[in-house]
Amino acid sequence: MTAGGERITIGFSEQPRPRAVDRGADNTRGRLFAEILTSGPLSRTQLAQRSGLSQSTVTKVVNPLIDAGFVAETGEQSTGIGRPQRLLAVAADRRAAIGVKIGPNAVTGVLTDLRAQVIGQRTRPLTAGHDPSAALSAAAAVVWDLLAGHVGAREKLIGVGVGLGGHVSAAEGRVVRSGVLGWNDVEVSAPLAAATGVATVIGNDVDTLAVAERWFGAGRDVDGFALVTVGPGVGCGLFLGGELVTGVGGLAGELGHIPMLADGPKCTCGNHGCLETLASDDAVLRRIADDGGHCATIEEAVTAARDGDPSAVAAFEAMGTALGRGLATLCNLVNPGRIVLAGERAGAFDLFGPACTQAWRAQAFSTAATDCELIVDVTDDSLWARGAACLVIRDAVGMPQP
Ligand SMILES: [Zn+2]
Repeated sequence: MTAGGERITIGFSEQPRPRAVDRGADNTRGRLFAEILTSGPLSRTQLAQRSGLSQSTVTKVVNPLIDAGFVAETGEQSTGIGRPQRLLAVAADRRAAIGVKIGPNAVTGVLTDLRAQVIGQRTRPLTAGHDPSAALSAAAAVVWDLLAGHVGAREKLIGVGVGLGGHVSAAEGRVVRSGVLGWNDVEVSAPLAAATGVATVIGNDVDTLAVAERWFGAGRDVDGFALVTVGPGVGCGLFLGGELVTGVGGLAGELGHIPMLADGPKCTCGNHGCLETLASDDAVLRRIADDGGHCATIEEAVTAARDGDPSAVAAFEAMGTALGRGLATLCNLVNPGRIVLAGERAGAFDLFGPACTQAWRAQAFSTAATDCELIVDVTDDSLWARGAACLVIRDAVGMPQP
């Protein structure tokens, strides 16, 4: 506000303002389904106690989930008082979902049950580079492979979820921009649905992984955590107050693109000196090359560093220091109680972890780092794809999409 009380607004002059994701919608159904999924079997009384809802509300909300085949009554529990209570569990094998992760080098797909437990997995390499049509053809082939390999899966299938790195418009089913794939304005949901005959939804891969971690992984016992991924890029998904935080345009948690160096290396986003240019696989390889060494792949760099090659060791330490500063920024902004560090390079934490932890603790304000526990979760592409399957399950159950 100015001294005279006049409001000054900067921005939004030419572009239409994106609509905020409606978080005010009634998500009771989703909350109860997630509770049954993560903690079931549970009686209606237990569900009411855990959710703070009345038992009649629980019954009203859960009955349609039973009718739709998502939840089933499984046995009874005696409390010693009154009638035994029927227990509710997710009807895991009544429905199936497919999750597909499109990465820079391969497309990985999983067929899962309704608990997102993997029934089958297929991978196709992306040999034709990052061409969108080749990647979407590979994704369609993975879906066909999974359906062909599992009799009855198509009849039970509730949909296909696709996760990939970048700015995704879930509502429009398209990628606005993906630096890691080099895509700009690429339709994904409609062409994939046309190629497979299966309804398809799309989401940012780190957001879908955050949902998988919340439901099944290192975030299942807490209300809030930040997921940070390291590998080809640096990603971040924020789960705060029991909800995935996406921001007004789906860009919340773009930790990889916080500016670190004004004149730093050029980033895939077009800017210079983003965290991702200092803490990604390419950053490690570039530092080794600048130091006169040579590693053709990040796997070679990991091996060289573990063998004690000085330039490889120093490159991972520099990557760790940059990442630690990024984690300090994250903690200063959000003050999370837990950070889950995952992604393709989490398995090299022995190489970059000490420098990362030191920089993180040194740079975080007050107790922002010591308030926070760091859990390193070594994942492979199947967990990413599992996260994409969670997209479909959330959609089917009627939970808000990331
Ligand atoms: Zn950037």
